[in-house]
Amino acid sequence: MKPQEIDYLIIGGGPGGTPTAMALASAGKSVMLVEKGAGLGGTCLFEGCIPSKIFRESARRLRELKEAGDFGLCLPTLDVTVNWSAVLERKRAILKRRSEGALQNTGRLPTLNTEFGQCRLLSSRSAIIEKEDGTPQEVHFEKAILATGSVPFLPPIRGIDHPRVHDSESILNIDHIPETLLVIGGGPIGVELGQVFNTLGSQVTILETSPRILGPVDKELALLLQQRMQQEGIAIHTHCQVTAILHTGHSEFVEYTDQAGEKQHSIADTVLMVTGRRPNVEGLGLENTAVKHDPHGIEVDASLQTTEAGIYAVGDVVGQPMFAHWATAQGLALARHLMDQPVPFPTANTNSAVIFSEPEIGIAGLTEQQAKQAGLDIEVARYDFHNDARAQIDGHDNGILKIIYETSSHKVIGVHALVEGAGELMGEAALLVKAGLPIEAIAGAIHPHPTLTESFVMAVRSAMAKAGKPNDHKQK
Ligand code: FAD
Repeated sequence: MKPQEIDYLIIGGGPGGTPTAMALASAGKSVMLVEKGAGLGGTCLFEGCIPSKIFRESARRLRELKEAGDFGLCLPTLDVTVNWSAVLERKRAILKRRSEGALQNTGRLPTLNTEFGQCRLLSSRSAIIEKEDGTPQEVHFEKAILATGSVPFLPPIRGIDHPRVHDSESILNIDHIPETLLVIGGGPIGVELGQVFNTLGSQVTILETSPRILGPVDKELALLLQQRMQQEGIAIHTHCQVTAILHTGHSEFVEYTDQAGEKQHSIADTVLMVTGRRPNVEGLGLENTAVKHDPHGIEVDASLQTTEAGIYAVGDVVGQPMFAHWATAQGLALARHLMDQPVPFPTANTNSAVIFSEPEIGIAGLTEQQAKQAGLDIEVARYDFHNDARAQIDGHDNGILKIIYETSSHKVIGVHALVEGAGELMGEAALLVKAGLPIEAIAGAIHPHPTLTESFVMAVRSAMAKAGKPNDHKQK
């Protein structure tokens, strides 16, 4: 078949590739979006953000039912059971709806051609697509954008190749709730899924190499969450190095060394390995180009161009931070840049994120520790949700908000919160950080009562009062 000539080839239909393809096609460019999976949506839709939050939602509602008595509700029975097949069916239906929606959206753009199949670069200007039906299609492109995401990284530990040892993808298709679950890795995914399965009834143990869970997260918040998880019955062992997994009958026998270097072990019927992710470059044909990459990601410059002129990369395949919204932000900035529109590319120190623990941790900008490491002179405005009207009403008043700001300019450079609903606070937080607004702008904006957003104002008022600044609003 004759090679097809296009302006842009986009490889990978996740949150990085799909919006980028749509933005370029909306501007009239001829674009081919190639996805090797079953539909558009990437890891986020099929093996990441969405399925994990669907499980989390079932767990959250179960927890709410169990706590109903605290809110004066007498349920006919507290013997609530989980119909796991129904949870899986709900997940399947939502994923189908969302991937069909994505396909409808891309289908509306006449110059966007979506192909399903594996794509491999043949040179710096050509690629081959092994389509689903087995037919190969060669394309010649002006520019290409690599958005092939990432895959779970499993360290070479003896015994990991076993059906009862899961990674973050296979656990989302598990056909039962494990009785005992051993999670190797106390990062965002390990914490989220560990808590979800704990709430759903599994007895959960987390083994983490570092001195605490959630390494890069604000230390105080991470330690508070760790304490809370332990109170809920999750065993958390830090400073652990897993050395082997042995399979005995119906159990997994996980050997590890503790902080003192002593041999320890833990037994569970199911193991979840969430030990990081690696850029997905396998089979992409990078060897046929000058694109450089290492285990951390594809090398790009400030405008996301790789070491091969005309080939760009966005999202997880570039390396940390690995978030769906970050991949999209990079892709949309790149699309504008390629259309010669002036655009600031996203910078990691203005990114926001949520750890979907219970309670959630919201993150925007730099933590106190990161700011100090960067040599910035900072102050921290704090608020304890114990005193908060909304948090008391919700029954989730155990948490704190920290607003990090520069001492001289009062510019907000970070906002970090541990509270159920913290995720919903991060929109305002991200705006404050991105716009570099001073804390006085928060105090001057009327925040509705009773909502968690009032915490921003309360934190700033008490910081201003401490600094002897006029504070003409009384606390509610
Ligand atoms: P991906 O989403 O991985 O998409 C890449 C696509 O490229 C895939 O569909 C793949 O099939 C395709 N592809 C790869 N190679 C080829 C090829 N050669 N030819 C054709 N197609 C190819 N992020 C958040 O922001 N919020 C969350 O709550 C969140 N939760 C998560 C929970 C879990 C369990 C996991 C694993 C991840 C989570 N993430 C979350 C991270 C998020 O999923 C990723 O950051 C995001 O999906 C990255 O988008 P991407 O487009 O770069 O890559």
